[in-house]
Amino acid sequence: MKLRSEVAPQDTWDLSELYTDSQTYLADLEVIRGMADELAAGKGHLADSAEGLYRLLSLNDRMGILAERVCAYARLNFDSDMGDPERKDLYERLDYLLSSIGEKLAFMEPELLTLDLTDFQKFIEEKPELSLYSWMMTKLFRQKNHVLSTEQEELMTRMGSVAGSFDKIFDDLTVNDIVFPTILDEEGKDLVANEANYRKALESKDRGLRERYYKALLGTYEKYVNTITSTLAGNTKYHVLAAKSRNYASSLHRALAPNNIPIEVYDNLISTLRGQLKPLQDYLDLRKKVLDYTDLHFYDLFVPLVQRKARSYTFAEAKDIVLAAVAPLGEAYQANMRRAFDERWIDIYPNKGKATGAYATGVYGIHPYSLLNFAGTMDDLFTIIHELGHAMHSFYSDSTQPFVDASYCIFTAEVASTVNENLLFHYLLEHSETSEERAELLSQHLDGIRSTLYRQAFFADFERFMHQLVEKDEPMIPQVLCAQYRSLYALYYGTGFTTDDCLTFEWSRIPHFYRPFYVYQYATGISAAISLAKGILQDGETAVSAYLNFLKSGGSKDPIDLLREAGVDMSTPQPILRAVEDFRETLDALKDELLG
Ligand SMILES: [Zn+2]
Repeated sequence: MKLRSEVAPQDTWDLSELYTDSQTYLADLEVIRGMADELAAGKGHLADSAEGLYRLLSLNDRMGILAERVCAYARLNFDSDMGDPERKDLYERLDYLLSSIGEKLAFMEPELLTLDLTDFQKFIEEKPELSLYSWMMTKLFRQKNHVLSTEQEELMTRMGSVAGSFDKIFDDLTVNDIVFPTILDEEGKDLVANEANYRKALESKDRGLRERYYKALLGTYEKYVNTITSTLAGNTKYHVLAAKSRNYASSLHRALAPNNIPIEVYDNLISTLRGQLKPLQDYLDLRKKVLDYTDLHFYDLFVPLVQRKARSYTFAEAKDIVLAAVAPLGEAYQANMRRAFDERWIDIYPNKGKATGAYATGVYGIHPYSLLNFAGTMDDLFTIIHELGHAMHSFYSDSTQPFVDASYCIFTAEVASTVNENLLFHYLLEHSETSEERAELLSQHLDGIRSTLYRQAFFADFERFMHQLVEKDEPMIPQVLCAQYRSLYALYYGTGFTTDDCLTFEWSRIPHFYRPFYVYQYATGISAAISLAKGILQDGETAVSAYLNFLKSGGSKDPIDLLREAGVDMSTPQPILRAVEDFRETLDALKDELLG
């Protein structure tokens, strides 16, 4: 693999737009430190006057914009070559600065909360420029009924630092302490049945290997199930207790409050999907038929249904395809995305020491950047269009919204990326030349919906059960969790699927359960994206302009309102039903290709 210094500049991102050298970057760290000190000097007087409040809030914005720029520079520069000690040093200096600023400015939120909406409106009358912060303050004031006295808040903070231990213990146990067993692979060589080999083993054509791997992996979690149940129970109890202490009706209410997501959105996802399991079960039947098995197990879900000699793409080809695929979003969108390629917003190829994976990040006042590790596969095409979907969301939001309202939350973030993936899927399908190519695309699309919609909703379903156990003061023990898990598999996957005993322990390997009520957003996100992409392709102009408005709106409204204006109402079953319909149509098309 090439060294960073050997990579052609036109294949790398141009960080000189952020800083031309490390001296100016370091100088800006000092500027930020000075701004934080100036803000900290306002402690105790934040809400004294309209004029003073405006001065401090706009200083806070200027600091935030500069911080976004130094953070982007430090991270992108470091990720380009993580083995370079100079880049590492620049990154660590920022880390240190940020944590000291965090402590210094921790007073701001509680102090702002001593105001209420009426006080703030009076301030706006005195100083109309303060209306810039109306949305920020509205969101903040929503917490008012859930903020405790100063002493209680201090106690909660200390308790919170202990609460993180459950996750940490789970991590230490599963990453550091447990020794996963070694099994034999297809060629009789040693293969460790650990998480790192998950995809590789489960995509193997050798069924015997898949079974050995899966049973060895889950059997290991089973051995430690009492410890893992204790960490999970401890974590869940903490979240239930924290919700109660802050006057929330449940831990679910507390988790959804920051983005003002109605509980119905969560319940609606699960209840709608529970009524729409037939297409999923039909898909499992098709797998069984194509693979020619009499029974279907979890370890049969990932082996590709279509074995095709993979086509590879150059980056120039990938660029053309991706730009053509977003044509339905209009020329302006396309032209803005072209800038990412032509103006070096993208770091394209892997090099020695470069961060793995892919991401996009917005930089307010500059432009977004994206890291890729392009290897020329079809998956890479989807990765590019996904990350550039995030990048365009930031681009539109940052160039439309004031800094304070520009950043969008997770609930809407994956919509922009997944809409683009859907457009690419339709583009490639339309331009496919052979039946195998179509079958592969259809099959990937189905697996995407299965793992993002059905599987994440399944997890959300289980998570709600776990929290309700604690809320009802019932014991959280392995037998209860396994029994619930078995019944959910029976419900979701149906009678054609064999739930092996080891599968009933699967919950014990899912790290996301330590971050309550997070994964449902993958399921709602893909549903919203499928609905929007369909609208864009079928209804054209009006759907496109509503969608572009959504991108431009950033975080200026509640996510549910933003999506409703874009054309999907997540509090109704419709978007979920449309996603299921898309799954059903794709399944029928795949059946045509595979069975004729
Ligand atoms: Zn993403």
